[in-house]
Formats: sequence, C-alpha cells, structure tokens
Amino acid sequence: MTEDRVVTFDMIMEKILTSDKQYEITKIISAYQFAAKAHEEQRRSSGQPYIIHPLSVAELLLELGMDTDTVCAALLHDVVEDTPATDEQLRELFGKDVAALVDGVTKLTQIPVFRQDQKKAENVLKMLLAMENDVRVMIIKLCDRLHNMRTLQFRPEHKQQLTAYETMNVYAPIAGRLGMKKIQEELETLSLYYLDPYGYSEIVRMFEKSKEERQQFIESIKKRLAEALRNEPLRQPPEIQGRPKSIYGMYKKIFKGHRNFDQVYDKYAVRIIVDTVPECYLVLGVVHHLYKPLMDRIKDWIARPKENGYQSLHTTVLGREGIPFEVQIRTREMHRTAEYGIAAHWKYKEGIQGKDQMEEKLSWVREILEAQKTSDDPDEILNTLKIDLSPDTIIVMTPKGDAITLPVDATPIDFAYKIHTQIGHKMTFARAEGKIVPLDYKLQTGQICEIITSKDPNKGPNRAWMNIARTSEAKSKIRAWFKKENRQDNIIAGKTMLEKEFRRSRIHIPDTDYEEFFSDDMKRHSCNSLDDFYASIGYGGVSISKLIPKWKDRYMKLYRSEDAETPEEQPIVQPVEQQVTNQIILDEIRDCAVKFAQCCNPLQGDDIVGFVTRGHGLSVHRTDCINYRAMLARDIPEERERWLAVQWTDHNSAKMRTNIEILAYDRVGLMFDISAVMKESGISMNVSQSHGMKGGRVLLMISLEVLNKTQLTAILERLRQIRSVISAERASSSYQYVSGAENKTKKRGK
Ligand code: MN
Repeated sequence: MTEDRVVTFDMIMEKILTSDKQYEITKIISAYQFAAKAHEEQRRSSGQPYIIHPLSVAELLLELGMDTDTVCAALLHDVVEDTPATDEQLRELFGKDVAALVDGVTKLTQIPVFRQDQKKAENVLKMLLAMENDVRVMIIKLCDRLHNMRTLQFRPEHKQQLTAYETMNVYAPIAGRLGMKKIQEELETLSLYYLDPYGYSEIVRMFEKSKEERQQFIESIKKRLAEALRNEPLRQPPEIQGRPKSIYGMYKKIFKGHRNFDQVYDKYAVRIIVDTVPECYLVLGVVHHLYKPLMDRIKDWIARPKENGYQSLHTTVLGREGIPFEVQIRTREMHRTAEYGIAAHWKYKEGIQGKDQMEEKLSWVREILEAQKTSDDPDEILNTLKIDLSPDTIIVMTPKGDAITLPVDATPIDFAYKIHTQIGHKMTFARAEGKIVPLDYKLQTGQICEIITSKDPNKGPNRAWMNIARTSEAKSKIRAWFKKENRQDNIIAGKTMLEKEFRRSRIHIPDTDYEEFFSDDMKRHSCNSLDDFYASIGYGGVSISKLIPKWKDRYMKLYRSEDAETPEEQPIVQPVEQQVTNQIILDEIRDCAVKFAQCCNPLQGDDIVGFVTRGHGLSVHRTDCINYRAMLARDIPEERERWLAVQWTDHNSAKMRTNIEILAYDRVGLMFDISAVMKESGISMNVSQSHGMKGGRVLLMISLEVLNKTQLTAILERLRQIRSVISAERASSSYQYVSGAENKTKKRGK
C-alpha cells in the first residue's frame, strides 16, 4: 500500500544513463546538489531525509520520459516553498524555464482547494490557469501528489482525509483528462484507501478470493487467442496481456453501480497489442469469430478517439461457461498514449506533431476557463467543472457526418452550441434519428442530430435553456447572449423587477438617490452605471432576492431613522389603487369577519384590496387577482364602491395558506428534496396535484402555509436550487386550492 523505499541520486543517474533520451547530465547533477544542500536539515514525516521526496518525484518524471528542465524542476520543486532559496537564485543557476516551472508548482501547492468553502471554484480555476500556461507544471504536481499519497500513512489523520479528498476530487480527474491513466488509477486507489478503508479492503478481498481462478481463466483465453492469431498475416506476433482492473474502478462499479462482483463484466480483461490500425480490426474479427460478442458492448475508440486522445477497440465477449470478458485491441503507439497520456509528447517524439497538437489536447482547459468568465456563481463553476472533468463522452453526428463529442447526458442545446454559437442561439427545435425531440432530450452515441434554426435575425435562446444545457460552453454562451445582445430588454426587465420588489418591500426612495443607494452593490458586481446594474438584474447575474434584506436594512437606516414614529400609527395610508375610495388597515377590521380569498391567497407583503361581501364580511384579494382586475375592467360604479384599499399591519403572525407550482424533470428523490427544503424552513405542505408532462417533466401543485411573502420568496428561491427543478413559482391567482386534495394526488406512471 505505502512506500518507504529510499530513492537515491545514484538510482536517478542510472535511469538517466540507460534512457534512450538525451539529458543534460551536468544540469541535473547541479540541480540535485542545490536541492540536497537546501533541504539538508529537513526530514519528512516518515523521519527520512527530505531529499528523498524530490528524488522520488524526479524518478516518476523520468519514468514518464519528461525532459531535462522538468527533471531539474522536480528536484527543486520544494526549495522555494520550504527553504531560504529564492526564485532569483534558481533563475541565475538553472535558467528561466526551470525557475518558471518551480514557481508554477510552488503556486499550485499554495492553492488550498477545499480548505475554504467559498473559494474552491476560484482555486480550481487558478490551477487550470497554471496548467494552461505550461502543462509540465501540472505533470510535476501530479507526480509530487502521487509520492505524497504513497507516503500518506506518516501524516496525521485529519491531513490524510483532506489530502485524499482533494486528490480524489481534483488531481485524479485532472490526470484522467490529461490521459495519464496509470497515475489517475493509482491516485484514485490510494485516496480510496483513506476515504473508505472498509470498501477498499472489501474489493481487495474479492480480488484475492478469485485470484487463482481469474488467472487460470485469463491464461486459457490468452493461449486460445495466440493460437488463433498465429495463422493471421500480422507483421509480428501480437502482445497479449491480462489486464489488471484498478481497485477503484471495481469499487465504483460495485458500490456506486450497485452490482455484485459476479455482475461486473470487465473483471476479466485481456489486451492485444499489434502494429497497425488495420491489424486492430483484423484481430477484432478473429476475436468475434472465436467468442460470441455482446453486441451493445463494442466501442470503436480508434475511429473516434476520446477527448483525452485515448484510442482502442473495446469489445465484451462470452467465454466458455458463459463468462463475459473484455478485450481491448490497440497499436503500440495507442498503448503509449493510453498509459502516459499527454506525457507521451515528451517520451515519444516520433508520433507527435508538436505544439498545435498539444494545444488541441488542452482545449478543454481553455473551454472551462472561457466558460467561467461570464459566471458570477462559484458553486455553478465547480459543478460544471466536475461534469466537464469527467471523461465520459458520447459522439453525435451532424447530418453531414461530422462527429461532435459531448459529455454523457448532453442535450440538443449542447450539441447546437458545440457546432456554432449562432446555431445555438437560432435553434427552434431538434431532430434526432429523424424524429422531433424535446430540447432536454438526452442524446446517444451514434445518433444523427439535426438542428432546425430560425431565420428571424432577432431570435435568441430561452432563459430556461440555461437549466437544461449540460456543458459549461453552452451555458456560458446563453448567458453571454442575455448579457450582450439583449441589453435594452435586460435594463427594462431589471428595472421593472427592482421597482416591483421595492413596492412589495415598501422601500420608497427618490429616483435621484438610486445611484448612491446601490453604489456598493454596483461596485461588487462591477457595474459602471445604473443601467449596467439593471441589466445585470435582468439577465440574472444579480439576484434581487439575495440583496433585498440588505436593501431593507439600508433603507431603514438612511430614510426611516428620523421619522420612525410616524409609520403604522397613521390610520390612513396612500390608496393602493386610485379607483378605490376607502382605505383601512387590516388590523382594524380583524374583528369583523375577514376572509382571505381562495382565488389568489394573499400573503402578508402582497398589495391587497378588500371586497365587502353581502353577509360574509370582508374578502381580501391581491391587487393582481384576476377577479379584482375583471371588476376594474367592468367599471361598474356600484360594484367598485364595495372594494376597499386595505393594508397589512406589520405584526401579523398567523400562517397563511398559499399555492405554488413546481415544474421539474421527474427523478427519484425529487419529492424528498422538496420536502427537505420545506422541513428545514419549518413549513408543512401538501401536494395537491401532480401532472406528468412531455419530456419526462412533472408539474407539482403544492399548497403550503407561510408567514408572509418574504418567507415564500425565500422558499421559492431555495426550491429553484434543487437539481432538475426548472421553475418554482407562486400559483397564478386563478388557481383554486382544493381542500383535502392530497387524497386525489395523481402519481405519474412509470
Ligand atoms: Mn513536494
């Protein structure tokens, strides 16, 4: 599990001298001498001399075939951080390239990814930025982390947890995206050992138990394959290996995929390595002739490489006694890329076309960095990062036959934006396999998808797409559209939203004071003008509901402190609507019969009016209630007289019933998440109706009791945060609450 072997400089020299690569030996020797001197007094937690750590990191980098500067930087990677040595010294002695590499690694080490909660997204982005500058920095860091993981047993327990967590969630996925499969698997497996020791030992036990039987099975397959391939016209006999499955890979399949050991298909796997691509397909044919293939488990990663450059043919076939096993077929060059990933660029110069290809391999880094520029929400960045770092991809074809690589679960929206930004913006609907599909449809590998666009030059995306799209690329393009092309609309929308909220919250400040009133918020969101600020509210970059409590405080301080005694005592307040002639405060009429109309369920904080019923007291409606609006439209004087302007008192404490509608993609656990939000807020709820809709969506009508509108707004905001929820709104005023409706709840069929 852990390593306490002592790496010496002699061992490093041995590796350098036997390597078929050219190294600048004197430079490496002086880097070693400098590092040994600088770390002279220091020891590792294991008690070993510190220099063993940089030597071990250098050894790993030599195994990857990295260049002289990288090996020097590995030897020196901790001197600036941990010893009096300086950046200038390194530059003088070893040149600016080595110094820059050490500086990059030092900065990466200083980024505490998960230590401070709200900074984590920013920190991951900083790491990606460093990697975009020079990917060797990340390769050194990955080897540094690998050696630290191998020796983690000597660290205190809380450090072990934190380091393992960070490794599992950040470094291992990055290694995967760089195609460095071997390092990724070792990082994952070592992290697992600390994060879930029980699960880890369980998998090891299963492997141990079946070891002998597994070896026998693999040996017999290898023999049979070798015999069958002997008669084929291959340049040289193929290399046939039994492939060990990583412990973490098996753990994921069993504990996260809820399968048992016997159900895992690729527990048994062999790999066949040949010389040329045509030979790969020839071997595939031979394998399928010998063993019956499971048809849905053939993957051609040669014709369509994975995003990280991985190429291979994968097929799962049935062995004797019906035991399925996986066969991977690839060329030697593909094998190197699969093992070393981006590092193969340094190890094997022959197959690499240089800088352009390197840039292409790192294009995903740039995409993530681009995407975050337009986002203000760090949590969203981290979520998209996690998705984007996962190498699971699908390939969808355009009608012209271009292959578009997308993450698993990508929608036609992601597909459209990946082809071209304008195709995304102008999309009206999509066809997959010739059939019109909803925009939230999950595309599958091999499908042909056609995007139908609008000719209207003003056509743009829909705000709801932001929640449907899966790639950060699509999301950021949609957001950017709302930000730029729709500026005027956003200003108007933002201003209207703001004024409405002010009215609701009873904040009355003169227009001329706005600029000063919002000056702090404008600075925080880097808005240069009030229009910028309105526009940000309009496209959703600034959330009013998050800011309103602060604004209320500010308002009370600035405008209400001197005349604090005036407010509620005054019985007459401004008329809510000019058509209404009388005004009363609700409190005064509490004693007479007051009912809250069920057509619109007013809440404390809503603008309200009262209707004098015949014999049933006062019925209170919202001013936006359709019944009230209809009355205004009819404009019959004797009817109008029966409406009174009413106001809330500020000390209402009774809970009031209201209805909300949630539109969401149906999924297991949705109701649980919704009720958890209610429970946390101390709110009881009933689902009064639920309708299954097209595209796997469900409309839930929920009745709940809240104190006031502010509370409702906060809850709606939280409900919108739940995964798969598309919208959560207060029900429109015409919606009728049916008492006891929970018994009538219709459940969506499966
Ligand atoms: Mn280190």
